[in-house]
Amino acid sequence: MNSRRDFLQKLGAAAIPLSFLPKLGSANTTAFADERYEGPVLRVAILGLGSYATRVADAMQACTKAKLVGVISGTASKITAWQSKYNIPAKNCYDYSTFDNIKNNPDIDAVYVITPNSLHHDFVLRTAKAGKHAICEKPMAVNAKEGQAMVEACKKANVKLLVGYRMHFEPKTLEIVRMRKAGELGQIMFFQGLCGFKIGDPTQWRLNRQLAGGGAMMDIGIYAINGSRYMVGEEPIWVTAQETKTDTVKFKEGVDETIQFQLGFPSGAVATCLSTYNMNNLDRFFLNGQQGWAEMQPSTGYGPIKGRTNKGELTHPHVTHQTVQMDEMAGIILEGKQPIVPVDGEEGVKDLKIIDGIYMAVKSGKKVDLKL
Ligand code: NDP
Repeated sequence: MNSRRDFLQKLGAAAIPLSFLPKLGSANTTAFADERYEGPVLRVAILGLGSYATRVADAMQACTKAKLVGVISGTASKITAWQSKYNIPAKNCYDYSTFDNIKNNPDIDAVYVITPNSLHHDFVLRTAKAGKHAICEKPMAVNAKEGQAMVEACKKANVKLLVGYRMHFEPKTLEIVRMRKAGELGQIMFFQGLCGFKIGDPTQWRLNRQLAGGGAMMDIGIYAINGSRYMVGEEPIWVTAQETKTDTVKFKEGVDETIQFQLGFPSGAVATCLSTYNMNNLDRFFLNGQQGWAEMQPSTGYGPIKGRTNKGELTHPHVTHQTVQMDEMAGIILEGKQPIVPVDGEEGVKDLKIIDGIYMAVKSGKKVDLKL
């Protein structure tokens, strides 16, 4: 098990006051007092050993409450490599055909699904059926109907379902959420979210509708959707959207290149956002209230995140997002902790309802009412 000192050193935050880190649970606080963490540990198997899974696995090496103990992969050579890199016993390794046997493995508590988007649904259903908690990457599914089915399957199996919304644990993000909740920005009137990058290899799954479920919106636009909700602090009631496509070869039917969309909130606040696979340097949030403002740029990358408000620069230290996320998720699953911004399946479904609405609005050219 990791000591608290190891944990902080690995975060590169040894000299940082604890109050700057996202709130950690009481079990942790007690453990911190006597240096060693003795509380429950979430034993996680990662399913789909691609590039983001590798980032998560590396970050998990610094976790206190979560531990990588197993893998599920379609590529035998990756299983061998991960076994030696992360010290994973053979009894905790599965391929996609043997995966369901995980139900008989008492040494794995949760499966973290990190595959192409359209595969999340089936793998989470199989995870629930095996009686394991599910953590699923964003977007949790390719439409709200599938997302809802995942929520229900996990409920029925009495397991938790969490979505990999790492920004929900990011200190500067949480400080702006705190300021907004405390009324320090006054009544919120406007949010702008710009999310995008120029995508490369045209043969990758992100540009394949079958696997991605869409285009930039599914992959990166979702950060602006999700961000608008936790920044404004309300659920949108309508959406309008417009699509621009400059390359119909790379961005085939059903794969969106650039979409601008607008969300309306019950208070009268509005959000205007851009999602694109065809522009770099787009990672920016701006929140405007009657008495203050906050901006973040970069706002959702792996960090360091930069933020400032009308009161000045945010100086919270950089943390490795996935380390904090996995420790916090362990607290949610094992101790029933409540995160400041939800990361459960219902939260994921809300984003998918908005994505469904955006695609509908692009098609019809009309305002679409949302019922989240
Ligand atoms: P990769 O292509 O790098 O990895 C996906 C892995 O899924 C593959 O390596 C493979 O692992 C497995 N897989 C199973 N079936 C298929 C298939 N038919 N085609 C391709 N791969 C398959 O993708 P990423 O890691 O970049 O993305 C995975 C998920 O993580 C996505 O949902 C994405 O949105 C999300 N993500 C989230 C981020 C975040 O910050 N929260 C950042 C980046 C991605 P194996 O060989 O082991 O079977």
